[in-house]
Parts: sequence; C-alpha cells; structure tokens
Amino acid sequence: MTNRMPIVAGNWKMNLGPTEARDFAASILSDLVTVRGVESVLCPPAISLPAVHAVLSGTNVKLGAQNMYYEEKGAFTGEISPTMLQGLADYVILGHSERRTHFGETDDMVNRKAVAAFAHDLRPIVCVGEHLEDRDAGRTERVITSQVYGSLKGLPSNRLDELVVAYEPVWAIGTGRAATPKDAADVAGLIRALLVEMYGAVEASVIRVQYGGSVTTANAATFAAIPDIDGSLVGGASLRPDFAEIARQTLRAKKA
Ligand code: PEP
Repeated sequence: MTNRMPIVAGNWKMNLGPTEARDFAASILSDLVTVRGVESVLCPPAISLPAVHAVLSGTNVKLGAQNMYYEEKGAFTGEISPTMLQGLADYVILGHSERRTHFGETDDMVNRKAVAAFAHDLRPIVCVGEHLEDRDAGRTERVITSQVYGSLKGLPSNRLDELVVAYEPVWAIGTGRAATPKDAADVAGLIRALLVEMYGAVEASVIRVQYGGSVTTANAATFAAIPDIDGSLVGGASLRPDFAEIARQTLRAKKA
C-alpha cells in the first residue's frame, strides 16, 4: 500500500434534487462511514450540495461539486464560482468528458478551473480520457499527453496531494464496457510519468490517480489492485444503495 489515501468518488450527474439527494445520502451514510482508510466523496448536482453537506457534516465522508467556473463573480449566467463552493464542497470534478463533449470545455478552461480550485481550497478531480476513435487509431497516448499537459499545468507543486486525476476513457463511461485492467494500468502509468515530467518525481508521487468508466462492485477491486490507481470515479453505480461496497473493496484491494 502506498501512502496515498485511496479515494472513491460518486458522480451523481444530473440526478437527485435536494430532497432526494438528502434522503439518498442519509440512506448510504451509515455504511459509508464504516469504511475507514478510503476517502469517500459524494458529488451531487450543485443545487443539492447544501442538503448533502448537512447530511455529511461531522462525518468522514466528503462532498464534491461536479463543475464550477473559474471566475469569482460577474456576468456569467448560470455558472457557479469557486468562491460559492469554498467552505461548502471539499472537492470539485473538473473537465468531465460530458462537460468537454456537451459544453465545449477545453483543456485551457479546465486548467483555469483547476488553478481557481487550488486558490479557493477546493480539491480538483481533473478528468482526462480518450474517445474510442482515438484508441482505435492508436492515438491514446497523444490525447492523454495533450490533456494532462493542457489541463494540469501551473498548479502549486507543494500542494499536489490535493490533486486527483481521473482517467476516464470516454467509451467506458456509462456503457457497461470498462477498460481492461491492463489498458487502465498502462494509461495510469502514462499519466504518472507525465506528472513526473511536469512536476518532478517527489512532488508527483503524492498525486492520486483514479480509474473511471463502468466501475461497479464487480470490478472495483480489480482496478484498485493496480499500483498506479488509487481508487475510482463512479457514475451509475454511485446511485445504488451498495455504493459503500465499492469503497470497501477498494480498501481491501489496497491492503492486500
Ligand atoms: C462518470 O460519470 O464519471 C462515470 C465513470 O460513469 P459510469 O461509472 O456510469 O461509467
């Protein structure tokens, strides 16, 4: 086991308004708090953050936002700023492939958001991942390299233990077709090597790397057993009542 704390985050996407989110968080909490040695993070929609914050308050389960803008305030209709999240959320998912695909987010925007997150004591979970056509055309390494350099440059090198990078192959998200452990391990290794190039070996050694893409209770342990992978970013299976089982399996795999 490395000295990096494993981390399992549940991305609820555009599901569960405040009342439903509060009730669901409360229903899984008693199980989730028993899994010590893994950081568990719940990421509800922005409007449900205060309700879930109230449920998680005083527990070891963390709260994450799914997105934010990088400006602090102003004429940005519909956006949520880092200042608004500061003190409410612990983490913020940035550059999820759905943001990149449906809302035109670029590496440059994701990078500005990551810089803003650090400036406001929010821990960024920055997502990278190739499309199927990139993988089929042998471009995975090129795409990941460009996303990692573009999205993760200029972060405070003495605070990289606050950074999480989620490797999420786009073709594995919500499809039931997870990456093979070898493919996930290869790309996680590539991400680590790139981070070493960018920040140095010692600084980069504390960065946590997750795998995401059709993670369930059936495969979470396999991914968690990979040395370069520190846990998972979970979509669909994070809305199930047995979400804590993914955290539990992650812990067991890391201890083995
Ligand atoms: C995600 O939303 O980040 C994700 C990985 O979704 P799923 O687990 O459903 O594939």
